Amino acid sequence: MKLGADLAFFAAYVAVDWASSISDAGTIGITPWNPSVGVALSWLILHGPSRGLHLFLAIVTTDFIVRPLPGVPLARLLSAGLIAGGYAAAAAALLRRGALDPRIEHLRDLVLLLGVSAAAAALLALANVGQLMVAKLVMPEDFLAISLRQWVGDVIGIAVVTPTVLRARTWRLPAWGSPPTRLAIEGTAAAIAIAAFVWIVFGWEGSDEYKVFYLLFLPVVAIAVRRGLDGACLSLLLTQVGMIVLVQSRGFGSAEVTDFQLLMLSLTVTGLLTGAVVSDRARAERATREFEQLLRERQSELEHLSRISALGEMASMLAHELNQPMTATRAYVRTAQRMLDSTEPPPEERRKALDAIANAVAQVDLAGAIVRNLRDMVRRRAVTREPVDLGELAHQALALVRSQGNPDQVNVAITQQHGAPIVVAERIRIMQVLMNLLRNAFEAVQPDPLGRRRIEVRITPIDGGTGVELSVRDFGPGVPPEVQPNLFASFTTTKSDGLGLGLSICRGIIQAHGGRLWLESTGPEGSDFRFTLPVGSDSIDT
Ligand code: ADP
Repeated sequence: MKLGADLAFFAAYVAVDWASSISDAGTIGITPWNPSVGVALSWLILHGPSRGLHLFLAIVTTDFIVRPLPGVPLARLLSAGLIAGGYAAAAAALLRRGALDPRIEHLRDLVLLLGVSAAAAALLALANVGQLMVAKLVMPEDFLAISLRQWVGDVIGIAVVTPTVLRARTWRLPAWGSPPTRLAIEGTAAAIAIAAFVWIVFGWEGSDEYKVFYLLFLPVVAIAVRRGLDGACLSLLLTQVGMIVLVQSRGFGSAEVTDFQLLMLSLTVTGLLTGAVVSDRARAERATREFEQLLRERQSELEHLSRISALGEMASMLAHELNQPMTATRAYVRTAQRMLDSTEPPPEERRKALDAIANAVAQVDLAGAIVRNLRDMVRRRAVTREPVDLGELAHQALALVRSQGNPDQVNVAITQQHGAPIVVAERIRIMQVLMNLLRNAFEAVQPDPLGRRRIEVRITPIDGGTGVELSVRDFGPGVPPEVQPNLFASFTTTKSDGLGLGLSICRGIIQAHGGRLWLESTGPEGSDFRFTLPVGSDSIDT
């Protein structure tokens, strides 16, 4: 494979050199158009600077066999050695520590390639023409002119050919016989336009080449802007080949061709840089678009995950919140069933049974309200917010907690300070919070001796009446130290039948209302759980 590629480059070098041996370069063979140097540098970049030896053989083949040049053989050999060694060194410098990406993907790669080649070409031109002068093949007075001719020929050969060869490796050609693509049609039109402009500048006898040369900027820059570096490479190659063919056929001398080539050099650099900037921008835009797409995908994945986790949370919340009313309902219904068991229950039993049924209905209503509220949240319906008097709500919550079979003979004092405002909130959810806190407090005071089981609920205005704080204070043994660090995390519990969800659900509800829930104090003399609610709460985040 490697040998095949080397042979192909060898053949390409010899063929290009032969085809481009133009103008009256005289006996020294230095022309202002050296595309073979561009081929050689691509070869060295792609296959490594060690190909310098192959290049030396290729130069010797062309200079001694294909189009033999007269003169001192030693000077010719030296010349071949200088050029092969010089460009191998340039390739080594370009590739050192990965400085150059051979795909010429970025503007910096192009600038590096052009800069290093221009410097190498200048040194080589001076050295080569110098040694030809020593060998008496170049007159001292021609030294500078011939050096400039070699330099411009080499630089332009590299600038036009090397980026094209390197970029061409990334191109995907359409399958043979497939219908013409837009790109192919556009490419053909561009080629015709370039050919027309080149003919106007160089083919038409009546035009002053120097004056109208700037016309060539039009197609080249337009194509570079539209198609980036690849468009620039191809249009410059076409411009250069067309120009050389016309200039040759009209028999211009080396000096004039060198001047044209200096103009061509400015066109080449402008076209290539424009193309590289456009390609860089297009790549950056593509990368941004891809990144945005990725972000969108991740976002929807995340939303999906959060929906699933929200569902899981809902399910556990439902299990937690329905457990109490269901148990209580069952107990009430069983009581009523027992009381009504005899065919003719005494009026006293009947009355108790009716009370139990009324209590069961209240529990079922509570369960229904919790489920409805959750359903509205899941469907993202506008949840109903209403003015809520926390004092009144605390009494209702207490009644329900008492009726859920919690410890008896607990003295609960609810005090509402004057000025405690009415808040706008979701009644049922705040009710859940109060019931959870009260239930925990009831359970906490259970070990206390009868008559000392005491809970205090205090409602006070805060922030100058724009908010309200509610405290549930029990006189139990306090929150066990081991659960304190994760008290508000899900599944933190010390109870055999507890889910450890109550406080985490409560905190979620209060935060959704724009408030805060925390443990104010805890110890052997009891715990004080508090939450705040702003009055407005008009943006409830469910
Ligand atoms: P659960 O009641 O299902 O265990 P919670 O989140 O409501 O879940 O409570 C978590 C834990 O915090 C309880 O198991 C208990 O150990 C402790 N705790 C909560 N409230 C009190 C309180 N008022 N006094 C003492 N410990 C409490």
